[in-house]
Amino acid sequence: MRIGKLRQILTENNLDAFFVSDVTNERYLAGFTGSPGDAGLVISQDLALIVTDSRYWEQVQRECPDFELVKVTTKFDAVLPEILQRVGGKRIGFEADHITVAQYERWMKPFGQVEWVATNEWVRRLRAVKDAEEIALIRQAVALADEALAHGLQHIRPGMTERELAWIMEVYMRTHGAEGTSFDFIVAAGPNGAMAHYRAADVPLPMGQPIVIDMGAKLNGYCSDLTRTVCLGEPAEPQRFWEIYQAVLAAQQKAEAEIRAGMSGVEADAIARRVIVEAGYGEQFGHGLGHGVGLEVHEKPRVSYISEDTLAAGNLITVEPGIYITGWGGVRIEDIVLVTDDGVEVLTRSPKEPIIYGDW
Ligand code: ZN
Ligand code: ZN
Repeated sequence: MRIGKLRQILTENNLDAFFVSDVTNERYLAGFTGSPGDAGLVISQDLALIVTDSRYWEQVQRECPDFELVKVTTKFDAVLPEILQRVGGKRIGFEADHITVAQYERWMKPFGQVEWVATNEWVRRLRAVKDAEEIALIRQAVALADEALAHGLQHIRPGMTERELAWIMEVYMRTHGAEGTSFDFIVAAGPNGAMAHYRAADVPLPMGQPIVIDMGAKLNGYCSDLTRTVCLGEPAEPQRFWEIYQAVLAAQQKAEAEIRAGMSGVEADAIARRVIVEAGYGEQFGHGLGHGVGLEVHEKPRVSYISEDTLAAGNLITVEPGIYITGWGGVRIEDIVLVTDDGVEVLTRSPKEPIIYGDW
């Protein structure tokens, strides 16, 4: 099915074969779960080859039943002539957005008789539209992030460090089936929250200030991505806190109510951005509204003011507006939604009531 779609693209572009070197694309097309740089795929209309060395021969037999194994015993370069002969074609595509200049010089330059065609994001574009199996797996990863966050918020207390909270949530995920986290968690207390991509540090969690928590699980290969902003006890500056929190929440709710397939990434972003601009915080919402999620935590389509993508039914995207004030902190709220023809289905279930009370 996935290979069939790729073969159709090869026909449309008049290519005889396609060389896949990106490990996530190898997983998507072949099921291969090895490390980057350890295998390559060669796909033509009648061949599906996986090229790798003895560390993976047994694994490939299990994981990649639709692919024929080509054994590498010395270097990849050594099997290339045999592969090119079997493919027999003249025009071969490669992933120009992934392969290094050094690899190009070593592998491709010596075969001047082949017309190497640089391609960009072909498999990534296929990956943007999820099939039913992928949607089911991402639902599980989303649910695990929801549970881990709820667990973290049960144990949160003032004075605990950002890293401790991050660790509590990570342990929960790993003891509940996750193979890892989607990325290094962000727990950003008070002014640290003004940095959208801050990471958890050895900083104690304060009372009365916004705390941005951005985390996600990697489960069965698929990622989730979840942000909530909380405050331990009543906010120290209630007027400012609620004005900013309500603006971010209203922007997110409007986007989730109006986004649908067929919209451009720019249009989807603008729905939320308009709300934040009208609230007077346009300059403080520096990043895009969201991104695709799947085998990687950042995938296509891009949902931002510089996106060139169009939303399609089957996209799984985040909706994550934020406002960041230097010296004060930040508020971001992030859900994962499934794009459909007539709207979105919000997969994330975590509550959005920010104030956490406790007998601390
Ligand atoms: Zn996130
Ligand atoms: Zn995100």
